[in-house]
Amino acid sequence: MPPDTIFGKIVRGEIPADIVYQDDLVTAFRDIHPLTPIHILVVPNRAIPTLADVATDDEPVLGRMLRVAADLAAAEGISEKGYRVMINCREHGGQEIHHLHLHLLGGRRVGPMVARKG
Ligand code: AMP
Repeated sequence: MPPDTIFGKIVRGEIPADIVYQDDLVTAFRDIHPLTPIHILVVPNRAIPTLADVATDDEPVLGRMLRVAADLAAAEGISEKGYRVMINCREHGGQEIHHLHLHLLGGRRVGPMVARKG
């Protein structure tokens, strides 16, 4: 079992979060420090630490994460103009919380894909 994180506690309802969607595989909630007008995190309910840790068995949950992100973008009204979906992996990817999550970012032009240095 991977170590528990704050996202595991959010999935289980042990700490509050602005949850916008939950089903048998994934939970989505608003980022506490939004970088764009719409900034939603989609996480697997079962803790997978990073994208580097996914296995073949995780393919259904990875597909669900992307489909839910697209549905939420439509529900939030940002689908037509577009948005960005991002996954940070481990140290060089800038991952802070080791419970896999994707960022759904939109509501304005998101900007350059990566900083030149960092
Ligand atoms: P990452 O750098 O990809 O690991 O992103 C972690 C994200 O989680 C950051 O954007 C944080 O603002 C966000 N975050 C941290 N704690 C919480 C929380 N309790 N509720 C919602 N979002 C959070």
